[in-house]
Amino acid sequence: MKASIGTRGLILEEPLLWEKGGRGRRGMSLPRRDVERIPVPEDVAGDGPDFPDLSEVDVVRHYTRLSQWNFGVDTGMYPLGSCTMKYNPKTNERQAALAGFAGAHPMLPAPLAQGILELLYHLERYLCEITGMDAASLQPAAGAHGELAGMLICHAHHRRQGRVRSKILIPDTAHGTNPASASLCGFQSIPVKSGPQGMLEPAAVAALMDEQTAGIMVTNPNTLGLFEENIRQVAAIVHAKGGLVYCDGANMNAVMGIVDMQAVGVDILHLNLHKTFSTPHGGGGPGSGPVCVTRALERFLPVPRVVKRRGRYALSEQFPDTVGRLHAFCGNVGVQLKAYSYILSMGAANLKRASQIAVLNANYIKSKLKGAYHLPYDRPCMHECVFTDQIQSAQKVSTLDIAKRLMDYGFHPPTVYFPLVVSGAIMVEPTETEPRENLDGFVEAMRAIAAEAQDNPELLHQAPTSPKLMRLDETAAARSPCLSD
Ligand SMILES: *Cc1c(COP(=O)(O)O)cnc(C)c1O
Repeated sequence: MKASIGTRGLILEEPLLWEKGGRGRRGMSLPRRDVERIPVPEDVAGDGPDFPDLSEVDVVRHYTRLSQWNFGVDTGMYPLGSCTMKYNPKTNERQAALAGFAGAHPMLPAPLAQGILELLYHLERYLCEITGMDAASLQPAAGAHGELAGMLICHAHHRRQGRVRSKILIPDTAHGTNPASASLCGFQSIPVKSGPQGMLEPAAVAALMDEQTAGIMVTNPNTLGLFEENIRQVAAIVHAKGGLVYCDGANMNAVMGIVDMQAVGVDILHLNLHKTFSTPHGGGGPGSGPVCVTRALERFLPVPRVVKRRGRYALSEQFPDTVGRLHAFCGNVGVQLKAYSYILSMGAANLKRASQIAVLNANYIKSKLKGAYHLPYDRPCMHECVFTDQIQSAQKVSTLDIAKRLMDYGFHPPTVYFPLVVSGAIMVEPTETEPRENLDGFVEAMRAIAAEAQDNPELLHQAPTSPKLMRLDETAAARSPCLSD
């Protein structure tokens, strides 16, 4: 048996349920029997499963303690770049849990589901308003699923023009899911190198764009946290060769209500409702990755679509050019409800302000840590900023050491070693929901770690020292997981 008794500070150790309890303990009692007792025949009863005998207090404490080992946005700052771990207002959960929504069966006929259909119809309109696009489908269940929907639409568009185009341009600052989604759709990804400023350069796109290329997938703002300033020129080059511009809009948190995506040349865009529009995420979902398109591409959107006819709402499959169905029913409606609640409770002006504060917070951290950490792209950033371990590597301190040490200071580490174009990247996304004192606390911790890297690098190699578990062998954890004890 493992050592499992005692506490470290107020963090309670917790054994497995099988190591707890005692023979004959029970967590519930049944009402007095009012029928005759009939013994279960031996061959039916068998030995029964190997469940531990536990009382109610054993079970309640076990799960409550385990829940306290978690770290999340409700516990503290979670500056995981690219993931937008902002605080999710609880009112969203409350609205989504209203009996009329939570109890609505997905097979309800449209006349009995007018309220929810109306809401989905309006959510599509709001997302179009926020992004500048014309039409949307809420069906995709995640960002990467939205990308796949977008690629299918791109493919359907070219097929309808009677063209076969097999390649797609993907900048090296795009999110890793982009080439994966393109391949899943049968496209060959052609990487485009970004320029010295971390920007997509029109000349690089012009050199690669040809009539076998279906279009480009641009992450904007890109994974370096920079806005692709040449997007209009890039779009013009791609359009001139008959291609489409796909924008990965998972970083929309930086530009809500600020950038009109269609006006800068985007034809297809996906959003991550679970990031930008405030749904708890991580650990595998559920999410929602709506895909938004221009009027010209609307005919290809997945079905069923919510339509409004003579003041009534219905689900329609009558779109002959559709790419088909991508999810059961209308997608993850629970997540869509939370996004709707978020959008309405914020209002247009506050959504824009949220983006402005997200950008301000990232720039604040960038300027406060400049000098202590190397900045590969020293220019104004959007909602996230990227540092490296270049200064600390002289003392043999790596990005991983820095990230692990942050836990000793009470902060969830930022994203590390991503984006791949930056060696030893440390990517910080503070989000708009962190108050000033937390940003200052984070800056102070990062500066203290930079000082430790100079004075006591050995300390950082051993970090973290205060959490329940120290430095884990991450390769062993993935290659030979121990699932039994
Ligand atoms: C998170 C993210 C994705 C993928 O979204 P999932 O919902 O995890 O599939 C795609 N692109 C960017 C830029 C992202 O940040």
